[in-house]
Amino acid sequence: MQDCLFCKIVEREIPAKIVYEDEQVLAFHDIDPKAPTHILIIPKRHITTLNDLTEEDAALVGRLQVTAAKLAKEMGFAEQGYRIVMNCNEDGGQTVWHIHMHLLAGRSLTWPPG
Ligand code: C5P
Repeated sequence: MQDCLFCKIVEREIPAKIVYEDEQVLAFHDIDPKAPTHILIIPKRHITTLNDLTEEDAALVGRLQVTAAKLAKEMGFAEQGYRIVMNCNEDGGQTVWHIHMHLLAGRSLTWPPG
């Protein structure tokens, strides 16, 4: 989608430190990390918010989750632990309008989030 930051990262119009890619999913380092390791896992296809998901997207969202878990394991965080978060709209803290899964790791994370 035009003017979507993450679509532009998918199209390589904006640089990002990419750590994983397949035909449906892209993962890259967050530009402003909130933990020692902070990766964003996104679908390549534009979906604006979690509110736009349909039944047909179930496998795609599962793929984001499986990719995040695989990356966490490969990066050595499986034992110690990590967090996966998806924010939706203003109260959820969403600031980029293309769904994304945050993988946060490398420190003890507090709960509940603010
Ligand atoms: O969940 P939320 O929409 O707030 O997350 C968006 C994330 O995208 C932020 O963590 C922000 O640092 C990140 N970002 C990025 N590269 C950009 C712009 C934003 O990694 N060019």
